[in-house]
Amino acid sequence: MTDRLLHGIDARTDDLVALTADLIRFPTVNPPGEAYRPCAEYIAERLKKRGFETELVRGEGTPGDNDRYPRVNVVARFDGRTPGPTVHFNSHIDVVEAGEGWTVDPFAGVVKDGRVYGRGACDMKGGLAASIIAVEAFMDAYPDFPGAIEISGTVDEESGGFGGVAYLASKGYFSKPKVDHVIIPEPLNKDRICLGHRGVWWAEIETLGEIAHGSMPFLGDNAVRHMGAVLAAFEADLFPALDKKQTSMPVVPEGARRSTMNINSIHGGQTEDFRPGLPSPNVPDSCRLTIDRRFLLEERIDEVKREVTDILDRLKRERARFDYRIRDVMEVQPTMTERDAPVVKAVAEGIMQVFEREPAYVISPGTYDQKHVARIGHLFDCIAYGPGILDLAHRPDEWVGIDDMVQSAKVMAIGLNVLLRGGAR
Ligand SMILES: [Zn+2]
Repeated sequence: MTDRLLHGIDARTDDLVALTADLIRFPTVNPPGEAYRPCAEYIAERLKKRGFETELVRGEGTPGDNDRYPRVNVVARFDGRTPGPTVHFNSHIDVVEAGEGWTVDPFAGVVKDGRVYGRGACDMKGGLAASIIAVEAFMDAYPDFPGAIEISGTVDEESGGFGGVAYLASKGYFSKPKVDHVIIPEPLNKDRICLGHRGVWWAEIETLGEIAHGSMPFLGDNAVRHMGAVLAAFEADLFPALDKKQTSMPVVPEGARRSTMNINSIHGGQTEDFRPGLPSPNVPDSCRLTIDRRFLLEERIDEVKREVTDILDRLKRERARFDYRIRDVMEVQPTMTERDAPVVKAVAEGIMQVFEREPAYVISPGTYDQKHVARIGHLFDCIAYGPGILDLAHRPDEWVGIDDMVQSAKVMAIGLNVLLRGGAR
C-alpha cells in the first residue's frame, strides 16, 4: 500500500545501523547522567539538517542536575505545509551502567551477526534511531504532509524521569494543543503495542526501639526484632493476599498479572562504617525497610496503603512496645490507554501491514515515561512501541536486531501516515 515509504526505509538500513551505533557511543550512563549534552546535541544536529526546529532544554534544579551533570533534553519539531495533528516520538537517551559480564565493549557500537551491541542498544537507542529513520523516510515520501512531527531525546528515565519527560511535561511539552499523539519506542517487541503500566507505591517503614548495651538487651528495645515481626506478618498475611489479586490488564510477563511487592532493602542497627566488619555493640533503636508495591488498575492506592498500615497497626496493638513510622517515597498511578485510541489504531495498522497479523496488546510490569505524559501532560493518546526484546534490557551483551529495527521503523512510518494523512498512499 505504501511501497514508496517502505522502500525508503529499506534503503536507509545502513544509516539506521550507523545512527544506532553512534548513539551507543555516547556513554549516557545514569546515574550520574554522563554525556547527556553531547548526545542531545548530536540528535539536534542531525534533525536540524532535515529542517527541524531544535531546542535543548535543561531540567534545571531536578534531581541530579548540576553543572557537571546537566540534565539536557532535546526537543525537535517540524511543521508540515498545512495544519493538522502533532505526532511526538519520545525516547530516553539515558542508559543504566554496563555492569560485568560483557564480551564486547558496551560503548563501542559493535555491529555483528545482524545485530548492534551495546548498553542501550535495545533500551532504547535502537528505538530512537528507528523513529528518526521512520520520520525521515516519511518526510521524503510525503513532503506535503499536514500537521507536525516532534522527536525528543530525554534524560533520566531510568531514575524516574524527573529531569526529562516530567520536567518537559510540566512546561507544557506533552499537552494539547502542542501534541496530540505520543509514541515511546521502548523495547516491547516489534509486533506488540504497550498500552500502559501497573501502578507503583514505594514506602519506607521504620520500626523504633531503644538503644542499650548489647550485653543487657533487656534494658533496651530491639527495633530489628520488631521488624522481624513485620516481615513475619507480611509473609503470613500480605504476600498470600497479593498473590490472589489478578488483573484484567494484559501485563507481560504473565507472572506480573497480579499484585506484587518487593522488599528492596533492610537496614537496622548502628552503622558499621567506622570500623568495617565489626558488629555494633548496641541494641538497635531503628530498623528501616523499603517496599516496592506494584498495583493494578483494579486497585486504589489508598487501599494498597491501608493493607500495609493495617498490619502495622495490628502489631502496635498486639506486640509490646511496638511502634513504627511510614514514609511515602514514590507513587505512580497505573495507566492504560484505550484500545480504540487513535495512536493505538494507527500503530496496529502498521503492525498488520508489516507482519500480516494482529498486534498483541500488552501492559508493562514496570513504569516508564508514559506516567508523566498522562499525569502531568493530561495526554492519554500515548503508547510504547519499539524494536528490541525487553528481557535484554539492562543485561550484559545487550543488543538490538537490525531487521527488527527496520521492521519497526516501517510500523512507525505507517502509523505516522495514518495519523497525519489518514493512511493515504
Ligand atoms: Zn527504557
